Amino acid sequence: MDQQIELKTIDDLINKVAKYNKNKKELNKIREAYDYAYLKHQNQYRKTGEAYIYHPLEVAYILTSITADIPCLIAALLHDVVEDTTTKKEEIAEKFGEEVANLVVGITKLSRINFSTDNDYLIEYYKKIIVGMSEDVRVIILKLVDRLHNMRTLYVLPIEKQKEKAKETLEILTPIAHHLGINRIKSELEDLSLRYLKPEVYYDIVEKLNNNKLERDNAVNEMLNEVKALLKEHNIKHEIKGRSKSIYGIYKKLDTGRKFNDIYDLLALRILVKTEQECYLALGIIHSKYRHLPKRFKDFIAMPKANRYQSLHTTVFGLEGQLFEIQIRTYEMDEIAENGIASHWSYKEKKTVKEDNLSLTEQKLQFFKSIIDLKEDRLSTEEFVSSVKKDLLNNNIYVFTPKGDVIELPKGSTPIDFAYRVHSKIGDSMVGALVNNSIVSLDYELKDDDIVKIITNKNSQGPSKEWINMAKLTHTKSKIKSYFSSSMKQDNINLGKELIEKELRKKNIDFNLFYSDENIDRILQKYKLMTLNDIYLNIGNNKIGASNIIDFVFKKETVTLPKIGGHVIKNADNDIIVAGIDKVKVNLANCCNPLPGDHIIGYITKGTGITVHRINCHNLNNVTDRTIAVKWNSELTKRYLANIIIHTSKTTNNNLFEIMQRINFNSASIDSVKTLSKIDETVYEISLLVIGKEHLNKITNDLNRLTYIHNIERIIR
Ligand code: MN
Repeated sequence: MDQQIELKTIDDLINKVAKYNKNKKELNKIREAYDYAYLKHQNQYRKTGEAYIYHPLEVAYILTSITADIPCLIAALLHDVVEDTTTKKEEIAEKFGEEVANLVVGITKLSRINFSTDNDYLIEYYKKIIVGMSEDVRVIILKLVDRLHNMRTLYVLPIEKQKEKAKETLEILTPIAHHLGINRIKSELEDLSLRYLKPEVYYDIVEKLNNNKLERDNAVNEMLNEVKALLKEHNIKHEIKGRSKSIYGIYKKLDTGRKFNDIYDLLALRILVKTEQECYLALGIIHSKYRHLPKRFKDFIAMPKANRYQSLHTTVFGLEGQLFEIQIRTYEMDEIAENGIASHWSYKEKKTVKEDNLSLTEQKLQFFKSIIDLKEDRLSTEEFVSSVKKDLLNNNIYVFTPKGDVIELPKGSTPIDFAYRVHSKIGDSMVGALVNNSIVSLDYELKDDDIVKIITNKNSQGPSKEWINMAKLTHTKSKIKSYFSSSMKQDNINLGKELIEKELRKKNIDFNLFYSDENIDRILQKYKLMTLNDIYLNIGNNKIGASNIIDFVFKKETVTLPKIGGHVIKNADNDIIVAGIDKVKVNLANCCNPLPGDHIIGYITKGTGITVHRINCHNLNNVTDRTIAVKWNSELTKRYLANIIIHTSKTTNNNLFEIMQRINFNSASIDSVKTLSKIDETVYEISLLVIGKEHLNKITNDLNRLTYIHNIERIIR
């Protein structure tokens, strides 16, 4: 499978460029760029064993086949310099100009993104990202050619990697090449991808093609000569050539269930003429001699494809009744068919800089229209146009999640926009944000390449109204607003909670007594509700009276618990062993969150079971008659919730991040983080899951070593 590739030299490259650009100064600049890249990549090698410089050289060489301009060729030679060496953009700008530097930076940005994915949505997204991130269409072409050379040398990678790259190429890059109309590059990328993705299929097709190649070549040649004579007879100046179908193209047809022998465009001709009229003229002449298949006739001259492809296609019965596919087009159409968008910025059409920029912008707009496909038809036309405009004006930034997923946002976006873009749940429960590992305020303006981590807390109070002004995107603002309109509901929930707790206080009933899982379940069942919030909501809405609920829970209960006996029975399912009682429901009180190692005491609730408190929990101050001795079941190794409050000096450093790191380092997991106050000192409330008291002590001791921590306390509510 190895292929012997003859290594190109810088002289080969320059000779090739000189065929379409004779400007000595510019040719010298290419040599200069080569020498520069050569030094930068010294002692670096490709996996294929060659010196690294052969890769950029080869990329530039391939680009000459589409008559790339000088800045593009120079950028090709330098394209890996920023990524793989310590070179800075400024240095390149100084030596080779801003235009080249921008191209190099553009391709470097693209190379940092890992595009492989199994998610269809992301495939669409990545296509858009590649286009959106490239200020200049040449960056995309550079990327495609860079990949082409890497695909040509893909055999050096392990099979896993080969398949991954081939898949990515086929899913993301060849569609872009197609949209840009760069068919020659697209076609080679497709064939190479297929070869690594499905080698059996690929080599099977190659073999079949080889089997009757001679026959086919003969048939094509005979037909070619006939048609040539025919057109000459009618005085149509033309060029005609036999055409081979790409292996991938054949694979696609076989994939739709066709038999190899039924693929008729295996025999194909292409006729090039000067003018559009001559295309139709030639077509008429051919149709008058050979019968054609009406269904297979296509006029892409009158109706160009989205990527501006133009040509006439017809399929005729040729010699010995064999089907031939014939394409007829002008030279200009052929150039566009092969090189697509690249045929525009090629050297020979170079206009003034301003005109050039304009047409690049136009090209990009057109390109965007074709690439943002149905997946985004949720957007209204207006939104679509404004989103494209923003992209065109390059007002977008690209930031990353901690996992490396790229998120595209308009310039000026804040962590709030980021959070809501990821998910409105993330936005609604956001309590803070880290950018590049430092805590930032929520109105911080995100910059390109920032790594953004949103800190959430499921107990958060929800977004604040100020966020509406801090958000950049209308989309974000409306999500926050919709939170508040549904928070009318929230207000009633809060009211309901207040009402019921007021009633409990009035009746002198301990909250924990009321809030047992069992009580709540009974209420939910009785009123046919789903959640505790539903209960509150119904009270807040005045649908159910708070006192009715309390009466329902406490009126008919009479708990009989066995007397505290002498012997201890193990209740293996529980965290807690209760003196004298076997199967009994035990809850850990969430006012003081006892941990294994804490001195604890049980409280016999009126409803059901036993709630376990820390012995010093103030909620038990005045009750003695209903307590029961309990102890920890030492055989369980669960994790328990501990709530701590940390007082720190008010600094702008990334204290919270460090605190979280320390906690993590001590192998406890963080359940939630809340910033309580930022007035004199910064106070955090952190809920974490620990093994027991000892574990918690170890963590707090460790945290106390941080100089900015004043004090840490465990909460009893
Ligand atoms: Mn490269």
